[in-house]
Amino acid sequence: MGERAAGHPGRRPDPADLAVVNEIAAGRGPVPRIDPVTGTATWRRPVTAGQLTVAFARDVVGTFTEPAISRIRMCAAGNCYLIYLDTSRPGNRRWCSMQRCGNRSKVRGHRDRGDKS
Ligand SMILES: [Zn+2]
Repeated sequence: MGERAAGHPGRRPDPADLAVVNEIAAGRGPVPRIDPVTGTATWRRPVTAGQLTVAFARDVVGTFTEPAISRIRMCAAGNCYLIYLDTSRPGNRRWCSMQRCGNRSKVRGHRDRGDKS
């Protein structure tokens, strides 16, 4: 695991950018509801673009504050620059995607050890 893998980039956002996010997050968002047929969470329709923007800004607030911000990681693969939110229970996810970088890393590890399987 290279030095890029540990922790999130750690840069604090510009206060002016945070003010924009906070202002948008204070707006009227989509109205949540329970679908009577499926029992799943949904939004009352129609949902406007402005409401979606508010929902996105609120997600930004939730993602870029504790505890989520401590789980923002850079992919451990040396040739990948993706940043992801580690939602694994133990919080030790190493790659942006197991199907992509995780498998490539495992194949490379087998090859480096001379495994023939
Ligand atoms: Zn990756």
